[in-house]
Amino acid sequence: MKPVVVVGAGAAGLGAALRLAHGGCPVQVIDGAAGATALSCGAVDVTPWEDGDAGERVEDEALQLLEGLGLHRVAGALLATTAGILRGAGGADRALLDVGAWRGGTVLVPRTDHPGWDGGVLARSWSDTETARARGLTFTAVDATLLRFREERALCDADIAARHDDAARLGWLAERLREALARHGRCVGVILPPWLGVEAPRAEALSERVGLPCGEALSALASAAGRRFEFARDRALARAGVSVRRGWVRRVVASSPWTVELEDGEPLAASAVVLAAGGLVGGGIAYDPSEAQVASEVPAQARPVFRTGIEAPGMLGAGGRPLELPGSLFGVPPESIAWPFARDPLMDRVGLLVDGAMRVKGAPGGLLACGDLVADRPRTWLEAWRSGVRAGNALCGMLLGGEDVDLHDARG
Ligand SMILES: Cc1cc2nc3c(=O)[nH]c(=O)nc-3n(C[C@H](O)[C@H](O)[C@H](O)COP(=O)(O)OP(=O)(O)OC[C@H]3O[C@@H](n4cnc5c(N)ncnc54)[C@H](O)[C@@H]3O)c2cc1C
Repeated sequence: MKPVVVVGAGAAGLGAALRLAHGGCPVQVIDGAAGATALSCGAVDVTPWEDGDAGERVEDEALQLLEGLGLHRVAGALLATTAGILRGAGGADRALLDVGAWRGGTVLVPRTDHPGWDGGVLARSWSDTETARARGLTFTAVDATLLRFREERALCDADIAARHDDAARLGWLAERLREALARHGRCVGVILPPWLGVEAPRAEALSERVGLPCGEALSALASAAGRRFEFARDRALARAGVSVRRGWVRRVVASSPWTVELEDGEPLAASAVVLAAGGLVGGGIAYDPSEAQVASEVPAQARPVFRTGIEAPGMLGAGGRPLELPGSLFGVPPESIAWPFARDPLMDRVGLLVDGAMRVKGAPGGLLACGDLVADRPRTWLEAWRSGVRAGNALCGMLLGGEDVDLHDARG
């Protein structure tokens, strides 16, 4: 059997590739570069956390595969962010501290000399939240030496986190934290900058050495959590025997078998194709309004504001319908399609229209899509993961389960 080609290796592509490989399908993953998953910060939600139902469960099969990564705890968590708030999440990278574990108590916040971490301000800000007050939680800043060498002051979080993959260095950090705890007295836990490992989350090993739960705060863009995902992904794909190739897919052609054209190299033949190329961050969707055609003239024709990053059958849409052409050659005002100016904005909804089995509408049956590339679904980590697993599951049924589906004939 020709391999199933999975385009993209973020949460969605990984979920699809692992499900297919575990189901016995040969898989070829093609991935361009870091996408939203590699930039995300370690919180994993089903719906955006502001919507308030972050505790929603992912279905068993998707959860089992996720547990195999050894990277997340998928149970409701309360996370302290480096923006100074406490927020709920559907789950989190194991390096992150779940402050929801306590009813009352003091969490130690090391005050250390790094420009990305102001322990004093964070401790005050977290203590001052309604959630902390309601739970009787306080955060207290205590001076501590967490950086061993002067040059570390200039390192980014992920580079410092990588140093804590070394057991001796983690032991050194544990000693410094024990000294700080001895100066402060009783604490229930210790919250740290996002510095606890990149090859794997090191919070549990650190907690054992310190004798108290220790973990990271939830940081903003491009934290160590993204690097941890990449390490865990590469290990899981290697274990599952999935072949991975770096490169950019330019076009997917509905031939028999499918043809996947790359920017560099020979075209690939595939029994089916899963598009997991992400949204605006990953490169699966591009913002490309008609007014971008020429800088100084009226555009020759109107066109939809978004297009797919890969030329492939199927259509972009939102609200269950194909994208409309703007009524003006000058397109639509950007603020009318984006948060916070529009409620439920097009930019958050636009994607490929798919059916319940993640099959791309208007394309032959062997083309599926998942993750941020799909229309009308939440743009969240767990949604991407489980839609990938769902796509893998559907294809296993079609390719191996004898389901009577023509993978090359166009469906409506
Ligand atoms: C800064 C940030 C913070 C976030 N915070 C949260 C959060 O707190 N909670 C939460 O649940 N979610 C959060 N998210 C959203 C979540 O990370 C995404 O919804 C999810 O990771 C999307 O996964 P994906 O696999 O669909 O896409 P991506 O991770 O973007 O993966 C797409 C992959 O496809 C590849 N690709 C694209 N085009 C091509 C091509 N032509 N050829 C080959 N490869 C290609 C890209 O290189 C990329 O690797 C956050 C996202 C960001 C950016």
